Amino acid sequence: MTIIFLGAPGSGKGTQSAILSKRLGIPSVSTGDIIRGVLKSGGEKAEILKSYTESGKLVPDDLVIDLLKDRISSSDCSKGCILDGFPRTLEQAKSLDDLGIHIDIAIDIDADDDFICKRTLSRLVCPKCNSVFNSATEMKPKSEGICDNCGSHLEQRKDDTEETIRTRLKVYKEKTLPLREYYSSKGVLHSIDGRKSLAESSEDIFNLVKNA
Ligand code: ADP
Ligand code: ZN
Repeated sequence: MTIIFLGAPGSGKGTQSAILSKRLGIPSVSTGDIIRGVLKSGGEKAEILKSYTESGKLVPDDLVIDLLKDRISSSDCSKGCILDGFPRTLEQAKSLDDLGIHIDIAIDIDADDDFICKRTLSRLVCPKCNSVFNSATEMKPKSEGICDNCGSHLEQRKDDTEETIRTRLKVYKEKTLPLREYYSSKGVLHSIDGRKSLAESSEDIFNLVKNA
């Protein structure tokens, strides 16, 4: 089963795909995490990727499609996966079609810009295990500034500044919103309200997936 999450940056795709991944026993694949992994290891490719991510732009399709292909060819994805943050352009969506990957359900998480901007500014991430917390929501870490899962010091993402978030939202509207139409015409698009509590929205998602 292949599930994709649409929705603006900061709408909760990563959080919801992690929860769903545990419930379904299939991996959650985040292109954002894959890209941050390359950034950490340094080198020429990292420098190229950094020039896009730090200004809130999308990484060029050919680069991100290659990274995704690599990841989903590993054996843990043989029964399917949940894609978090891919596809974000029509070109990327078509690359999944070209690979013969059938999308069972596309879940669009809906939330307005001001809500997203406010929530993203209080997001905290673990540099070691990629867990995500939020200092201003029900996702606070148990101990302030410390990862519940591995004990590392939490950080703010470099691209979680107000200016970059606004750019990411603009890019989202130009490049990613058309995907709603794309998956709607394939009959697999469902929307959920991203402002509900975590328990409610994750239950809504699970019910949609069960019936897909
Ligand atoms: P968010 O959804 O919160 O903006 P992600 O962690 O998914 O963040 O992605 C971080 C950055 O990585 C994006 O702003 C973009 O530069 C890059 N990126 C991630 N996924 C893609 C993709 N599918 N296509 C192009 N760029 C991507
Ligand atoms: Zn951690």
